[in-house]
Amino acid sequence: MKQAIKAAARLHGWTIHKRFLSRTPYWPEDRRREYIERHLKATLVRAYEGTRHYREAFDAIGFDPRVDFRGPEDLARLPILTKDQVRANADALIDRRFLRFSIEASTSGTTGEPMKMRLNEGYVAFDTGCIFRHWSWAGYRWRDRMVALRSYVPESDREPLWRYDRAQNTLFFSAYHLSPETCERYIEEILKFQPLFIKAYPSSVTVLAEYAYPVREKFHALRGIFTSSETLLPTERETIERTFGKKVFNWYGMTEPVMVITECEAHEGMHINWEYGFPEFLPSDDLPEGEYRLVATSFHNPVMPFIRYETGDVVRLPDEDRPCSCGRNMPLVETVVGRKDECIITPDGRRLPSVNFYTLFRKYEEILRFQLVQYGRAEVVAKIAPRAGVTGLEAIRSRVAEELRARIGPGVALEVEVTDRFVTNADGKTPPILRRPGTRSVEEREAYRISTQQAWAAARRGEAAHKLDWNEADRVPSPLVRETLHRLIDSDPYLCWYPEASTPEAEERIAAYAGVPVEHVLLVHGSDAGLDLIAAALVREGDRVLIVTPTYDNFRAVVEQRGASTSFFEYMGQGGFPVDALVERIGREAPRVVYLTNPNNPIGYVLDGPDLERILRRCEGVGAVLVVDEAYYEFCGKTIADRVTASSTLLVARTFSKAFGLAGLRLGYLVGSRPVLDALRRVHNPKSVTMLAKAAAVASLEDEESLRRYLEEVRVAKARLYAFLEGRGIEAYPSEANFILIRWDDAPGLIEALAARNILVRDRTAYFHGAGHVRITVNGLAGVEAVIEALGAYLDARVEASGALHTRA
Ligand code: PMP
Repeated sequence: MKQAIKAAARLHGWTIHKRFLSRTPYWPEDRRREYIERHLKATLVRAYEGTRHYREAFDAIGFDPRVDFRGPEDLARLPILTKDQVRANADALIDRRFLRFSIEASTSGTTGEPMKMRLNEGYVAFDTGCIFRHWSWAGYRWRDRMVALRSYVPESDREPLWRYDRAQNTLFFSAYHLSPETCERYIEEILKFQPLFIKAYPSSVTVLAEYAYPVREKFHALRGIFTSSETLLPTERETIERTFGKKVFNWYGMTEPVMVITECEAHEGMHINWEYGFPEFLPSDDLPEGEYRLVATSFHNPVMPFIRYETGDVVRLPDEDRPCSCGRNMPLVETVVGRKDECIITPDGRRLPSVNFYTLFRKYEEILRFQLVQYGRAEVVAKIAPRAGVTGLEAIRSRVAEELRARIGPGVALEVEVTDRFVTNADGKTPPILRRPGTRSVEEREAYRISTQQAWAAARRGEAAHKLDWNEADRVPSPLVRETLHRLIDSDPYLCWYPEASTPEAEERIAAYAGVPVEHVLLVHGSDAGLDLIAAALVREGDRVLIVTPTYDNFRAVVEQRGASTSFFEYMGQGGFPVDALVERIGREAPRVVYLTNPNNPIGYVLDGPDLERILRRCEGVGAVLVVDEAYYEFCGKTIADRVTASSTLLVARTFSKAFGLAGLRLGYLVGSRPVLDALRRVHNPKSVTMLAKAAAVASLEDEESLRRYLEEVRVAKARLYAFLEGRGIEAYPSEANFILIRWDDAPGLIEALAARNILVRDRTAYFHGAGHVRITVNGLAGVEAVIEALGAYLDARVEASGALHTRA
């Protein structure tokens, strides 16, 4: 439907351009004014009669457009419409009488949340008509060859970087993938196509122009370049026109149906497309003289009228009203300066608008493009991309840093980075100034990625699934847990009060289970919350953290988010664990924290007591905290937790999520040396652990027999799976936990075959440098039997397939 409407609107738009928009610029002034007033009134009346939002807004000020509207000056009485209002009240802005032939559209969210809106076919057509008219000013005719450096992003690595669209006779390139490395291929492909026109984001066609400069003569067929969607900087215009020898025709418009302003072949400013909507230029205290906020009202989108919409953009008006030498009766603005919210906000609250920085960077001939990214308040990164072949970057970098510092002031961590990787939004736009809410580490580092939720999806569909991808149990082993929980849920105040901060019964029961005095234990909301606490209390910007890998990726994520740098000690389970090498690394790097998982996840090996002892002693020597994650302790029975009383620097993380089957309740605990654990307590909020979780833990620990039986079943199931794997010649790692890691080249094929039967296992290939590895949770006999059957069928089918091949050969 959406595509069909868009295709129809394209043809319709061409007709609007030919029959209407190519003539209106030559209308006399009184006819132009009459058109504007008639459309303004019609828009206000329709909105008043058909939308809740405008009915209420106009009634509140006693304005009935049917009788009160006399001319554009009346607009000033009406309230301004902001983006936040559109987001919050989208429904109240819709006029249901015009829903037919309308589509949904969304802004890209460069500066804030994406905004959804509805657009009429007639509006899309009118917008397209304005585009065709704009192109015609550069000589465009129907279906002329065009290259678009925008509006196309390949969905996966396998898709090509460019794609030809026959209907539009346009070769689309991914702006997102354009870089000095890919540029040569882009240029080659463009030259083969010999476009008459290029349409692009200013930032992308600037990069293309810079690298195409040596072959500039070959673009002789080119007639014009259309830029839009980003502020076009004067230096970008120069770079583009220098290479292509043709003029840039800049377009200002937006997804929101409000305003279009376009540059003609006289290049004396930009023309207001008055047929499209009505602009107002409002002064603002924080803008320099001659610059105004652009507020505009659409004429052609009755399904969702935007009246006095605050675009957030800033326009510079000419000193005096003057006609353009092109002769069109379309008023001029001098330029669209940029977005009002494109600014850096200093820690003392000063707003430094983007122009400040445009003028700064303009002086640097050597710099092709720049981007400033502000993280939170106190971090600014200036990214600069040099022109082709520029050397001596270090000197430029430090001069830029000095100048930026003078403008931004002290109290901001400032870094100037030479790079061509700018921060790009989903459409491939690269705004020159960006503010991100998170700290730099949070925004830049790779987040912990939660894996598939397929088991939940199956459960919601009411299908049985074997969830063997997260190393949970397949049941709650102790029936006491459910009895206890039922009793508590049915009795107040277990749900209506905050949890009791200290619950000696639970803490003492858990401490006894861990074999340590109670003051060495801290209950947390899942050991994940414990890992967070460790990072919050112990790690800061600039700290180094050493992680024994492959392992649980959350260790990395939580410390990197705090600005620590991570290094990795890799042991892939081949040969004995290289304790000497690890001890040496700890001594050499003196990290703040060392993380290891014992038994290891995903391989399943266990370090024994003397090895751990050596590692711990080395950590003590260099003042590092050793975190041993014993999430899988119950399955092997080996622990270092009893050493916390004698050590000053050990933390053991445990959980009720695995052997006890309580992953859904989120309960973990840290067993730790007093000084470290006490530091963690200062950060910890004890009410984050629920009474239900604590009671379930106590019940689980009471019922030793159920736990013992469950562990025994897992042991038997594991032996069964090992026997099967060995029988089928599949390489498997010895594991002392509740999972088995296997080596299998076609990991995705195997995973898919099992998933087809709702058996979910985890791909661990990425941890092994691309060598196929799959981890299968062993959480009971039922799961293992299902895996054996499905794996057997998968292997048999492969043998048959290759057998068939052989016979044919
Ligand atoms: N640590 C390790 C080593 C794990 O494998 C997991 C679960 N994948 C966790 C911690 C998370 O435990 P919890 O459910 O207690 O947050």
